[in-house]
Amino acid sequence: MAEQAVDVLLLSVGADLPYFCGYEAMPLERLTMLVVSRDGDARLVVPRLEAPRVVERPSVFDVVSWDETDDPIELARSLIGSVTTAAIGDHTWAGFLVDLMKVLPAVEFRRASELTSPLRSVKDAAEVESLRAAAAAADRVAADLQAGGIELVGRTEAQVSAELGRRLLAEGHQRVNFAIVAAGDNAASPHHEPGERVIQPGEVVLCDFGGTMMDADGVGYCSDITRCVHVGEPPADLADAYDVLFEAQAAQVAAAVVGQACQEVDRVGRAMIAEAGFGGNFIHRTGHGIGTEAHEDPYIVEGNCLELRPGHAFSIEPGIYLPGRWGLRLEDIVVANADGPDNLTDSDHRLAVIDA
Ligand code: ZN
Ligand code: ZN
Ligand code: ZN
Repeated sequence: MAEQAVDVLLLSVGADLPYFCGYEAMPLERLTMLVVSRDGDARLVVPRLEAPRVVERPSVFDVVSWDETDDPIELARSLIGSVTTAAIGDHTWAGFLVDLMKVLPAVEFRRASELTSPLRSVKDAAEVESLRAAAAAADRVAADLQAGGIELVGRTEAQVSAELGRRLLAEGHQRVNFAIVAAGDNAASPHHEPGERVIQPGEVVLCDFGGTMMDADGVGYCSDITRCVHVGEPPADLADAYDVLFEAQAAQVAAAVVGQACQEVDRVGRAMIAEAGFGGNFIHRTGHGIGTEAHEDPYIVEGNCLELRPGHAFSIEPGIYLPGRWGLRLEDIVVANADGPDNLTDSDHRLAVIDA
């Protein structure tokens, strides 16, 4: 905070708060806010009825609860005191920020992520192990899917999505964050909402799923994996496109070494996909950081010159999408470390073909 000339850090709903103090605020209209002054004094403003949920850590923060008829903005203002610059959590509700700006008209507000992202994005050894455990659980579900252990033909995308979710929980996740199941031409939409489409023989089925798994301290770390399955032998053009994707994704994983700029990792695979004639069909960035949030820094995208450091954890997930026909994506979670890229997911990277 001193380096960045921030006088006070304000954390409300979102992933910063549990990361720094172990308490996750309910995403509700009552204000929860950790007020951290530059000298290290930290006070957690919390609604009285939610105070029993707080695991007290007196060495880290004090609890200041407010009653239903109190004015929590006024309470926060009094704790903030007279400051010039405040960093406020990016996911804080706009309503609270607007109200704080009204009572603190001279204060400059900045995004807390300027402070918190560099800390959160570099994982320590224990965090890497938490990510590894979550990735391994999702990987087991993926391996089962690829082996034909999850019925596809004749079921709706929504039914398969629900089963993927149940299996994530059975493998040790506490929360399912998403389970995209996209069949046939629906797979050309990267964030397709699984629906009533019944999966048919001859279709590709793209499955992208992940959840949150609690570690020993009760802090949740996320998984995220994408694998494609083809029902029956794939047509040659789809199989060829998959080979391009497979090679591009492997090259990007290999390029994710310490010191490499994030945008270079993106470029490596994008160039290979473009070279094969699919330049216009890879319509998103290569990947996103992952940790206590499913998407966080660092983003593997053109324009991000950040150089990978040991402990950066992120997805590598290029895709090729042909509107009206099909879509393909292949996603792993990778940690940059001194010995090279550590790929946390190792279920088969080839296009799985299951009996029609
Ligand atoms: Zn996505
Ligand atoms: Zn994913
Ligand atoms: Zn992802």
